[in-house]
This record gives sequence, C-alpha cells and structure tokens, in this order.
Amino acid sequence: MKVTQHIEKTDETLFSFEVIPPVKGKNIEELYDNIDPLMEFNPPFIDVTTSREEYVYIDRDGLLDKKRTRMRPGTLGICAAIKHKYDVDTIPHVLCGGFTREETEYLLVDCQYLGIDNVMALRGDAMKEEKYFTPTSGGHTYASDLVQQIVDLNKGVYLHEVVETDQGSDFCIGVAGYPEKHMEAPSLKTDLKWLKHKVDLGADYVVTQMFFDNRKYFEFVDRAREMGIEVPIIPGIKPIAVKKHLQLLPQVFRTELPEDLIEAVTACRNNGEVRQVGIEWAIEQSKELRAAGVPVLHFYSMGKSDNIRAIAEAVF
Ligand code: FAD
Repeated sequence: MKVTQHIEKTDETLFSFEVIPPVKGKNIEELYDNIDPLMEFNPPFIDVTTSREEYVYIDRDGLLDKKRTRMRPGTLGICAAIKHKYDVDTIPHVLCGGFTREETEYLLVDCQYLGIDNVMALRGDAMKEEKYFTPTSGGHTYASDLVQQIVDLNKGVYLHEVVETDQGSDFCIGVAGYPEKHMEAPSLKTDLKWLKHKVDLGADYVVTQMFFDNRKYFEFVDRAREMGIEVPIIPGIKPIAVKKHLQLLPQVFRTELPEDLIEAVTACRNNGEVRQVGIEWAIEQSKELRAAGVPVLHFYSMGKSDNIRAIAEAVF
C-alpha cells in the first residue's frame, strides 16, 4: 500500500523507521534481530537506504590498486526479504548518484515485479573522496530529474520512448526535505523552491532530515505550506547515541543542536549515558510532534534498534 494511503487510513500518528543494509560479507540475520523488537509497534512501512559507491585501495605488492565498490549493496533484495518476512511495505531509496537512467529504469521495473508500491527519490551524497556531488555519466543531476523519470514510468512512458503502455507503474514517490536547509542551498527559501519543484513534478510526500529542535520542523512545515507544498511532511528523528555525534551531526548534516542537549551530552561520563540522554530527548521531541498531529514519526535506526524501541514504548 502507498504511504499516502497508510496516512489517509488513520488520524493516529504512525511509527516507521529506516534500516541500512549490512556491510557485504555479513548476513541479514543481524538486521532481522534489530527489526524484530520494533514490529510490535506496527510500522506500516520500513525504508531501506542505498549507499553510494566508494573507492577502496588494494595493496598489490606495494602498488595500490584503486577500485570502485559499493560496501552496502542489496537494498532491493533486503526490501523483498523484509516484505516477505514481516508482511510490511518496504521502501527502497533510489539514488541519482552511481546509477545511469537505464539502471534506474531496470531497478524500478524490479520494484514493480516485487509489489513495491513506494520509492524514495534522492540525489545521494557526494562520494567520500569528493567535495561536491558529481552526477554519474548517464545519470541524473537532481532528485527532481529522478522524480520525473518515475512519474513518466507511472504514465507508462519508458526511457527513450521505446515502450508506451497503459500498464504503467503506480509508485508513490517520497522525497527529502531539510528543516535547516540542505547544506548546498544558499538559503532555506531557495531550498524550499526546489522542494516545491519536486512536489509539483509528482512527489507524493516528504521525509525530513533529522532535527533536534521541533521549532525548526514546525517553521519548515509552515513555510512549505505558505509556498503551496501540500503533501504530508514526515519528521525524521534520530536519537543521539555517542558523544562524537556532537561534532559529527553538525559536520555531516549541518544540523544545529540545542544548548540543553549539548550540555546534557557533555555531562555524560560514557556513551551508555549519552544513549540514555538521546532516548529521553527523542521521546520529548516525539511526544510533542505526536501531540501536534504529525502523520508519521520516522526514525533513523542506524542499524541498532534498542534505543528506537525504548522511544516507541514511551510514545506509542
Ligand atoms: P536534491 O533535491 O536534488 O537537492 C540537492 C541540492 O540541490 C539542494 O541544495 C537543492 O536546493 C538543490 N537543487 C535541487 N534541485 C535543483 C535544481 N533543479 N537546480 C539547482 N539546484 C537544485 N543519501 C544516500 O546516499 N542514501 C540514502 O539512502 C539517503 N536517504 C536519505 C533519506 C532522507 C529522508 C534524507 C533527508 C536524506 C537521505 N540521503 C540519502 C541524503 C541525500 O541523498 C543528500 O542529502 C543529498 O545531498 C541531497 O539529496 P536530495 O534528494 O535532497 O537532492
């Protein structure tokens, strides 16, 4: 079922989360072990991220051989496995970066055969070695281009117009939104303009980047509504888990942390205490968002679910 249909079916705030495929060489059991404890809270859908490729250097008798590889492949396989095991909708993250348009089309066709009703259309980050995102040759530059490709497929128009059919796909399309603006956007207003572009092209819902101050989300939603963005805007919540997040999250996601949270984390003697602070902060955030009637609380689980479970127990 589509995310929008799940939302329309109820006035209650739904619970959902995102998982990351294991590093290749690991099996899927650990992932299941982390999903199992969360199924009690009836997530209508689970997102599965896609990782960018990266360069690895292999030592061959003193000479370094540079190879491009994807360390966490298997997004679609994991979507199919989770859907089959738990009878829940799964949402693959589909990226511009690292994929040609043709590869994206084949991926979408696979999604259709697997009965996947939703896809999250994202540009993807720059590769680790790159300062800025470089479009893959033959791939898309912006998430909006990807939205357009999916919308075309929904209309039965395949690439290069080799096939036109009235049996198009019917994907519900999610896109990313940034309450504190995307790091490359010169202003929140400009970023919102591009978000509106994605929605005007056919995106059905927005999931936000993590934020730690609910006012940022509420203001973002107000501004989005003023600009005519009317689709559901799902807040993304990440509980802080280690002290290093104080530097890492602002650096990687350009997220500002509230002073009270910084002080509480700084006062912790170990990461066990930090994890508890993160849980308590996310519970307060989630309770307020739920009281405000958000359609879904979407959690970034980062592979370990004990903290997400503790939050869900307190909120749902
Ligand atoms: P876009 O919407 O293309 O925007 C990128 C930048 O370009 C923005 O600054 C925007 O303002 C600007 N822009 C957009 N359109 C135009 C235009 N036509 N002309 C000029 N400027 C424009 N990354 C992964 O690698 N894998 C994942 O699984 C993943 N999942 C995510 C899930 C969520 C909910 C979120 C919020 C992010 C996720 N990301 C993921 C990160 C995301 O890929 C990065 O934030 C990326 O840098 C931007 O992606 P986007 O889809 O927002 O890009």
